[in-house]
Amino acid sequence: MFRAIIDNLKGLWSLLVGLSITGRFFLSPQRTTHYPRQVDDPECLASYRGPLELVPADDEGRSRCVSCQMCVKACPGHCLTVVKGDQGKAPKTYLYDFTLCCLCAACVESCPAGAIRFSHRVYLVATSREALHLDLLADLKSRAAKEAR
Ligand code: SF4
Ligand code: SF4
Repeated sequence: MFRAIIDNLKGLWSLLVGLSITGRFFLSPQRTTHYPRQVDDPECLASYRGPLELVPADDEGRSRCVSCQMCVKACPGHCLTVVKGDQGKAPKTYLYDFTLCCLCAACVESCPAGAIRFSHRVYLVATSREALHLDLLADLKSRAAKEAR
């Protein structure tokens, strides 16, 4: 009898805790993003992990990358190919196979130069795997050219 009362009190306490959590979230500000009405709000995409992109070092479309290969070594999916250029440390090739990428961020976190980041490209569509083999240097140049217009 005494045991049954204790069990019932525990169940009631558990119910009250659950209801208090539900009530707290019910009254807190809404976190849902209304797609697509709010998709232009940069805040909505701040944490979105789209395909990688190079961080520009200047307005000319040069990269911060110093070809150290840290990202290549850190990547569990072997998605990245970085080839150092003939002059200086800048890469002459930076290829990224998005079909193999699990968006784990190991490359981003390992980069000592802050040269790569996740893009906020939500509308990337492809009809072949090859279309998702991305040339990040060309992408960087094209973004710089668009911004210069
Ligand atoms: S996010 Fe992960 S899987 Fe994708 S390229 Fe970077 S390290 Fe590789
Ligand atoms: S870790 Fe950074 S600096 Fe080094 S090769 Fe990768 S992107 Fe370039």
